[in-house]
Amino acid sequence: MKILTVLGARPQFIKAAAFSRAIKKHESVEEVIVHTGQHYDQNMSDVFFAEMDIPLPKYKLQTGGKTHGAMTGQQLEKIEEIIFNEKPDLVLVYGDTNSTLAGALAATKLHIPIAHVEAGLRSFNKKMPEEINRILTDQISDYLFVPSESAKQNLINEGINTNKIFVVGDIMYDVALYYKEKMQKPKWFDDLKLNQFILCTIHRAENTDDPIKLSNILKGLELSQRDIILPLHPRTVGKIKKYGLVIPSNIRVVDPTGYLEMVWLEVHSDLIVTDSGGVQKEAYFHGKYCITLREETEWVELVENGFNKLVGYDAKLIVDGINTSSSQKIESLGIYGDGRTVKKILDIIISTFNHQ
Ligand code: UDP
Repeated sequence: MKILTVLGARPQFIKAAAFSRAIKKHESVEEVIVHTGQHYDQNMSDVFFAEMDIPLPKYKLQTGGKTHGAMTGQQLEKIEEIIFNEKPDLVLVYGDTNSTLAGALAATKLHIPIAHVEAGLRSFNKKMPEEINRILTDQISDYLFVPSESAKQNLINEGINTNKIFVVGDIMYDVALYYKEKMQKPKWFDDLKLNQFILCTIHRAENTDDPIKLSNILKGLELSQRDIILPLHPRTVGKIKKYGLVIPSNIRVVDPTGYLEMVWLEVHSDLIVTDSGGVQKEAYFHGKYCITLREETEWVELVENGFNKLVGYDAKLIVDGINTSSSQKIESLGIYGDGRTVKKILDIIISTFNHQ
């Protein structure tokens, strides 16, 4: 069986690390990876392939740094050509980026079955490009691997046949468990001379593309008067420069880290403040409370259980959220499965293929 995996952005490399490792153990399954080049900086792409031992992509496209339409269109055209050449039995896509949608669209037009890992998540905010990518990808996928019952229900509400939906848990939990053993302290950490710190990430377009929101977020972080480490996404760096914003002195900006360093920072932080989907879950996996710089989240179970607080981009809500958060370790409730999501996905794909 030949699986064509389409990926292109940081969170997809991280998910692929777990899946590709498992595929390598199956002699009957061949994986061909297409990297769309959506993320292309060394510290947003290559570092993950190197340190997480992800097989190198057979195809590396250059579709990064473009508008949504241009990027998705070019990806669609190039992936179609690759599917013609490779003739895969299945196209596998992760998450909610333009690469996810382009991979799924190219496959469906050529009648190749699609597996969508991390299906069914919804923010119910259609202004987010990710939400459009999710909804459309789910509509044309054949195997919808969802992390939770709430994600399953979202798909049922959109009319998707339950035969296609598989509740398998969250693949990022598999990754978090495996790489926690290998986490690395960043080389620069001791130079910061911090005993305690908050870990923060900011990259979502809804925050970075609005100077008022971005400035309010920085203000809220400043007012907390806590030491904050902020590995800064290239998009946010560009916007801060463009808007002429000043980073407050309690925030230590560092380059985006590799995954092993990120896990170390998450594990050793007091609290996590983020607008990332993946980091919200990793906070929970590593027992940390999370303050989310958004007004809604796809990971509703974390909010319902009191592990995650949505504060949006209001400076006062941010500082109140930080000040009232506990730095106590939270206990895992097994919300997103048992860390064997990859095995479940592969078993389902292989057994269906063998019975065709
Ligand atoms: N991450 C990382 N280094 C960083 C920031 C994030 O390795 O400097 C990892 C993080 O641990 C998580 C993933 O990137 O696994 C989240 O990706 P991102 O926030 O870009 O996307 P989202 O999850 O919001 O789709």
